[in-house]
Amino acid sequence: MIEYDQTPDVQFYLCRQCRAHMALTQDYVITDIMIEAGIFRNAVNVHVEDDPTRYRMDGHRTVANVYCELCRTVLGWKFVEVPDETILVKPGRFLLYLKKLLLWDGSQILNADNRDPVENATSGSGEDNDNDT
Ligand SMILES: [Zn+2]
Repeated sequence: MIEYDQTPDVQFYLCRQCRAHMALTQDYVITDIMIEAGIFRNAVNVHVEDDPTRYRMDGHRTVANVYCELCRTVLGWKFVEVPDETILVKPGRFLLYLKKLLLWDGSQILNADNRDPVENATSGSGEDNDNDT
């Protein structure tokens, strides 16, 4: 697992379920407002469903499901084939749902979608034990 430095100089997204580190804000390209998702140049600690038989279509784009490597929550997808490629949306980029993510903004952890601060000590949802290994 890759871990970013949780310092004021580094800002990044985390899995809302297990808080695995997911992507740096510097790799954030643009927000897809329609589905409240962010498009990223890169993501870490993710499992991409690479088997072509499991690819799905999003409109006429071919995408592969992306899961959190640690907790296996579906986070979004990776673009595989993009016939209408733009400077923002192209193969190899990731689309991650903001409601599945938290944001470390350099001083505190926020919900990535509505920017509400999140209590560090108590998480209301998810009673699963932390798995350190
Ligand atoms: Zn996770």
